[in-house]
Parts: sequence; C-alpha cells; structure tokens
Amino acid sequence: MIRTVRSLLPDSARPRLGAYAAASVVSVVLRAVGAVLFVPLLSALFGAAPSDALVWVAALTVATVLGWAVDAFAARLGFALGFGMLDNAQRTVAERISRIRLTWFTADNTATARQAIAATGPDLVGLFIYLFTPLLSALLLPVAIGLALLPVAWPLGVAALLGTPILLAAMWASARLSRRADRAASDANAAVTERILEFARTQSALRAARRADSARSLAGDALQAQHSSVLRLVLMQVPGQILFSIAAQLALVLLAGTTVVLAARGGIDAPQAVALIVVIVRYLEPMTVLATLSPALESTLAVIERIRTVLDAPVDGHGPGTSEATTAPHIEFRGVSFGYGDTQVLHDLDLVIEAGSSTAIVGPSGSGKSTVLALIAGLHAPDAGSILVDGVDASSLDAETRRRLVSAVFQETALVDGTIDDNVRVGDPEAPAHAVEGALRAARADGIAARLGRGKVGERGAALSGGERQRVSIARALVKRAPILLIDEATSALDTENEAAVVDALHSASDRTRVVVAHRYASIAGCDRVVFLDGGRVVEQGGVDELRRAGGRFAAFWREQGESGAWRLRASRSEA
Ligand code: ADP
Repeated sequence: MIRTVRSLLPDSARPRLGAYAAASVVSVVLRAVGAVLFVPLLSALFGAAPSDALVWVAALTVATVLGWAVDAFAARLGFALGFGMLDNAQRTVAERISRIRLTWFTADNTATARQAIAATGPDLVGLFIYLFTPLLSALLLPVAIGLALLPVAWPLGVAALLGTPILLAAMWASARLSRRADRAASDANAAVTERILEFARTQSALRAARRADSARSLAGDALQAQHSSVLRLVLMQVPGQILFSIAAQLALVLLAGTTVVLAARGGIDAPQAVALIVVIVRYLEPMTVLATLSPALESTLAVIERIRTVLDAPVDGHGPGTSEATTAPHIEFRGVSFGYGDTQVLHDLDLVIEAGSSTAIVGPSGSGKSTVLALIAGLHAPDAGSILVDGVDASSLDAETRRRLVSAVFQETALVDGTIDDNVRVGDPEAPAHAVEGALRAARADGIAARLGRGKVGERGAALSGGERQRVSIARALVKRAPILLIDEATSALDTENEAAVVDALHSASDRTRVVVAHRYASIAGCDRVVFLDGGRVVEQGGVDELRRAGGRFAAFWREQGESGAWRLRASRSEA
C-alpha cells in the first residue's frame, strides 16, 4: 500500500508529504501534552491554592489552540496531497491502459480497469485527511501519552506503553478478519454485475440455444455465490468486532486498576487519580476512532489494489501514440468443433499459429477455411473446445477487446457509400493521412483513390469492380492497427492485381499475426506455414517447401495452381 501510494504521488508533492508528516507529529505531541496537563490542573484545583489552577488552564488553552492551528495546516496539506494524487493516479492509469496487452482485458479485468478510473475520486482525495491523519494519531498518540505519563506516574506510563502494541495487534487482527469477508463479498458482487451484463448481452444466443433460464445460467451461479459470501461476511465480522472491543475494555480495566493501586499505596492523591483516569480515556480514544474507520480503510485499500492491478498488468513494448499497436499474439485452436445449425463444419480441430507468423489456410471449397477465420475474428464461438489468444481463452475476453484484436478482410466486402478515404477510415477514424496513403499503396488501391478523388464508391461499392472492392477492404484492414490480420482471398476476383495486393498486404503487416485463406500460388508462397484443411480437419501442415516435397494433398494442389497460372500467363499473352 505504501509503495503504491508513493508511486501515485506526483514528484512535486514529495516536499509536502514531509511537511504533512511533521505537522501530524507536532499535533500528536500537543494533544498528549494537553491530556497530561489535566494532572497538575486537577491537583492544583483541589490543592491548597485552587487559583494556581488558572496557570494550568492557560497552558492547556495554549496547547489546544496551537493544536487547532497545526491540525488546520495539516488538513490543508492533506487535501492538496489527496487532489494531487487523484490527478496523477487517473492520468497514470489511463496512460497504462492504453499500453496493456489486449489479452489482459478479460471481462473481470476490464471491470477492474473501469473501476480503477471511475470510482477512485473520494477515496483518494480523502486518503490523507480521513485515513492517514486518524491512523497516525491512533499509532502515535497512545505512545506519546504513555511517554508523557512516565514522569507523572511511571507505572501507569509503562502500562500504557505496553498496552499500545497489544491493542493495535487486536485491531489489526479484527481488520484482517473483516477484510477477508469484504473481499469475498466484493469479488462476488463484481462477478454478479459482469455476469448479469453478459447474460443480457448474450440473450439472443441463449434463447436460440433455449438456455435463457436465469437460474441455470452463469448469472444464476454468480448470484448464488454472492448470497453465500454475504452470509460469510456477517459470520466473519462478528469475531472481528468483539476481539477489539474486549481488548479495549481489558486495557481500560488494567489502567484504571493501576491508578487505583497507586492511589491506595499513597503514591498519588485522589485529584491526581481522577485526572489520570481522564488521561486513560484520552489514551483509548484514537484507537476506538480508528476501529470505526476500518470500513473506509477497506474501501480505500480496495481502490488502491485495483489501481495496482492495472499498473501491474503486462504492457506491450510500444509506447502510447501507436494506440492499438500491440505485439502480435500467439493463437491456438484446442479441440475446436463448430457447425452451422445441424451441419458440423469443423471437427475437433487443433491448430497452433505462432506469434507474428503468416499462415496460409488452403483446401477444397467448403472445407471450413472461412469458418476458421470467422472463429478467430470472434464472429462465431466454438461449439466445443477453445481458442486461446496468448494463452487466454478468447471467450473470456471483453467484446470490445476482441474487436480491437482483429483486423479482417472477408469475402463479403462491406463498403459504405462514401469516398475511398471514408471507407478506409472505417478501420481507424483517427488514422493520420500518411497511414491511410500507406495502407492504400500496400493494398494496391492508391490507383482507385486517385481515379475517384472525392467521388463516392456508390451503394455497397457499386462503382467499383469486385477486385477493387476487395482491395479497398484490404486497405481498411491495414489501417486498423490490430495485432491479428485475417484475409479471406476473394475467389470472385482472382486477378493478378488482387493477388499482388494480398501478397503486399501480408508483407507490409509483418509485425502482426497473419492468417490468409489463400487460393493462389503467390499468396501462399510467402507464408511461413501452410495448413491444408479438408472436411473440417487438418490433413497436412508445415512449411511450403516441406509440404511440396512431401508429395501429398498440398503438393498436388500446388501443381494444379502452377498449371492454371501458366494457363493464365498464356491467355494474357495471346490477348496482347
Ligand atoms: P471454405 O471457406 O473452405 O470454402 P466455409 O468455411 O466457407 O468453407 O464453409 C464450410 C461449410 O459451412 C460449407 O459447407 C458451407 O456451405 C457452410 N457454411 C458456411 N457459412 C455458412 C453459414 N453462414 N450458414 C450455413 N452454412 C454455412
């Protein structure tokens, strides 16, 4: 906690921290002096010359007024520190969130990040005034009073000093017991909130699968867990509270007993004994106050822990600025089965796609190639098995994060009736002009942009050919800085220009994990790996040359491609 608080304070606040600590100590000393001044005051009042007490009243007044001044000064510093910390914490957390690896954003972590930014204000601003000030006084005032008692009635001073650590230990144990319960309750609450949101979001899918009954859903399980944690909370808080109040009462009896024994032995007189009992009450006061602060302490600790969780999350090597650019992830299909309705398309598929590699998915029509891309993009969820992105189950990821991970070009292009620039910027509305130009060049769509200028592409891109639409879609996918790039090579527009566009796009996105459903020689040749699918199963996989040498299905496909490529070359020559 101390480490996090220090790291959240802006550097400029460090000197103020020292002044705040010094003021807090002075305030404690003044209050201890004020408490112990009661002893000579009462002695004088009940002594031979009661008017002597006026001197002690004056001293007490001075100590009290000085104490107010110091407290006001400490409070001003405390608020300034709190606001400085809030400002700095929100900025630090926001900056960090823009650099955290996307796969960290599971539904739970996303909720934590949201709370770390949104729900921190009052807790952080009041941290010093409402928490540190009473905490310091509970720790220091009993010790200061104990020390001040030593010259007045040393056995009582010793008892007060010995009692302090015991009382604080009892309080710490109480707080620990309730903190465990609170944490369980807060985890259960967070889970319920997320599950209810998820339950609402996935209604259509659940209803389609006839699983909309809330009691049988994950939301039902989370509600059940919350219910039992509330019960646990009640049971755990009771011993926590009893423990401290028993310790405080024992201390009172012990100290009052010591005073009575001292008076009985004639060490002190009756007025002194009364005054000392007043001092004992003042001694216990700050600790009792602190015990009532424990819920606030818990909530502040939870806020700080959430901030810590965000600050400790794994970040990517890129600085802020390159907003979405995060390191290319590793993708793995583990026993994935999937079908549309009753027709099963993928059967228990295992597939590993290395981080930052390029993979060509090849196979006969209907073998499930496009379906594999749709599953990586999160358009469908596996019926069985799981898809892991950097080892994180993709189904646990927040929907927004899932969307940010993937940039995809599907067979069905979805162009809007705007300029080429408008269409490319769908990928990233904030992309700078040079990024849009670069993407257009890499997708070989710069010629189209030059031809159309500010002209519109027509409804669904009607003013463009099929190949041109595909190339604009590739430029759009490139401009979105997602760490996974998926391209489904158009079968309807297999011209040389498109073939080259796919090759160039794959090449220009070498910092991403790339998967292409490829039909043509050129697109496959540059890929690190080939996966040959048939009937929803992987029948061959390996490097291009390795599979060609193996003389299996891929080698046969490759020969056919070579022949059709040669045919196309001949055809275009005879046209010329
Ligand atoms: P490929 O890309 O290898 O040609 P697909 O993944 O597109 O194969 O399709 C695999 C099988 O799933 C095919 O039989 C196809 O008809 C079927 N299919 C694909 N998409 C759908 C869909 N949206 N609804 C129903 N069936 C589909």
